[in-house]
Amino acid sequence: MYVKPICNCEEPLKYVEEHVVPVSWYITGEGVPGQRQFTGSIDKNLTGFTGTKWLKCDKCGRKYAVEYDDKKRLVRGAPIKA
Ligand SMILES: [Zn+2]
Repeated sequence: MYVKPICNCEEPLKYVEEHVVPVSWYITGEGVPGQRQFTGSIDKNLTGFTGTKWLKCDKCGRKYAVEYDDKKRLVRGAPIKA
């Protein structure tokens, strides 16, 4: 049976991926970045995954490496030092 990864403090961990999100600005007549252009939601267009991922605890802030079991399910890896 699969057991969800939990923190040392017993809080369920969340899976986190780092994504790079390009953000655009219009250029003003003064030649500087002006109004920011919103091109869509990151939730709709989830791209730019950097390959960096970890498990995090919202309660105590600990981070752990991402590991997978033989069925490719998420399990907790070694603690990541902040
Ligand atoms: Zn915790």
